[in-house]
Parts: sequence; structure tokens; C-alpha cells
Amino acid sequence: MAELKKQTTFKLNKRDSVFFDQNTAPVNIAYAKEVCDVAILPLGAIEQHGPHCPNGMDSFNAIGLAEKVAERSGATVLPCPMYGGHPYMHMGMPGTIALNYETNIALIHDIIAGAANVGYNKFILLVAHGADSSFITAVHKLGMEGFFTVASTWYDFLGDNKNILEDFMWHADEAESSMGLSLYPELMHMDLAIDGAGTPLVDEKWKKAPGEMSHKWQMYGFGGTFALMEKDDLDYGVIGNPTKATKEKGDALVEQVVEGYAQFIRELMERHPVGVNPLGFRNPMGFNGCPYIQYDKDHDEHGRYIRK
Ligand SMILES: [Zn+2]
Repeated sequence: MAELKKQTTFKLNKRDSVFFDQNTAPVNIAYAKEVCDVAILPLGAIEQHGPHCPNGMDSFNAIGLAEKVAERSGATVLPCPMYGGHPYMHMGMPGTIALNYETNIALIHDIIAGAANVGYNKFILLVAHGADSSFITAVHKLGMEGFFTVASTWYDFLGDNKNILEDFMWHADEAESSMGLSLYPELMHMDLAIDGAGTPLVDEKWKKAPGEMSHKWQMYGFGGTFALMEKDDLDYGVIGNPTKATKEKGDALVEQVVEGYAQFIRELMERHPVGVNPLGFRNPMGFNGCPYIQYDKDHDEHGRYIRK
């Protein structure tokens, strides 16, 4: 049998790229074991985004943000599946290729379970699209199996009530178009941008917009059927004012969001060092299949991390 050689030179710190698919398997395995075991799964959508943004916008935003978060935090970026789940009102819009909920839940689950086999113990779903309908269920399924998973949309880190933008985050709007101008200006066609709006079914004050700080009696916008079917209700596939988008706003959005995620990951790695699964167990059968959890050597019988 020939002797196995080991990679000894790297383009980055102990790896060639922040992107999982651009390193060899032995390099990814060693990096997750010795340096950082946080894996980011960027999630977006293939979705129409008005006349001025590319169909892949949400996935491009998720990948672009994830790359910068990984550079700043040491995490690894898993390949983005590109397609995503959608809220009901997106269905039937030409340009949108939607996974159904069960497909998307299974897709997210299988990617995380497979990535855990590499040695990652902490998973961040970095979402750039309103797919709460499936990623929240996926998180709970993964939790029952002992996979520590956090799902958040990038606009969770935008809760600054219009410090950067004039409006909250909608669709193919000021926020998304600004982010596109910051991350991939060559794919944007701002000369074609046109403002648009949907028909509200309840007064806006009852709904929490993405990126908005909440106030009394506000309900999250994707927790109800608050919108008409977009294919019939929207004139140009736009909700919001993309004509107000600028690269400078996009740069500021990207910086705020990337720093938020990077701080979260750094703190996570301090509380639960490399090699430690914060949940303390793995049970790929699911908690439903076996209620007798065996905690690993890093945790006591209550599942609490034993600090060394
Ligand atoms: Zn979008």
C-alpha cells in the first residue's frame, strides 16, 4: 500500500478556502477538529426579483454574507443549495422555482446531518429569504437528533429601525437592491428599477416587518396569511422602493450583518470550544425514537457542559 501524503501548505489558516467544497475532505476534517467546528449553511431562493435583480438574488446574498462572516470568524461555508422554500403567496410567480415544504425541510436536515459527519458541531443557517415555513421545522427536527442549529435571517441583525435604510426589508426593494449593489453590482440593472407595493389585508401596524424592532401587539409578517397572491397582486414583482437603493447603503448593511454573525460565532466558540457539541448528545434516530439520551464526555447527566 502506498504511503498517504498530507497537505502541508495552505492558502489560508490551515485550509485553502472558507468554502467547504474548495478544500479536500482531509483538510476540512482536520480544520473542524482542531480550529473551528462552526459550519454556515447559506439559504436563499431562486425567485423573481423584479426587472432589475437576478433570479438568484437571495442565494447570492446568503453566500456573499456567509463568505464574509467565515473570513471574520473562522467558520466554514457549506455549499448553498440555491433553491429554497417559500411563503404561500409566492406560489405560481414566473421566475420563482419553489421547493415544497417537506422537500425543503428534508434538504436542510440531510445537509446538516451529512456535514456533522465531517466533525462540525455548531450549525448556522444564514437565511436571506422568507422561508420560515420550513427552516424553523428543520431546526426542531435537528435539535431532537442532537445537532446544535441556529437559523436566522440576515435582517434579524438589521433591527435598527431605519438607521441605514428609509424603509424596512421587503422584496427586490431598497434593502435587497442595496445589498446586490454591494455584493454583485455586475448582475444588477438599476436603470430598470421600479417601485411597487402589495395590497395590505390588515393594517401594517399589526405586522412586524423584517428588520423592524417590534412594538406592542405586533405580529410577525410571515406568521399569517396577510398578503394576496403576488403573481396577481404585484405589478412588477417588487415590494418597496428599489429606486432608493445605493451601494453605500448596501455596504453598511453588509458590515452590520456580518459583524453581528461574526460576534455570535466567536462567542459560541468561547462558550463551547472546538470539539464540543453544545447539546451534548447525538441521536440520529430522533428524540421521538429514543427518549433515553446518552450525554457525551463533555457533559454531565443534566446535559450541562463540564468546563475544563
Ligand atoms: Zn429576496
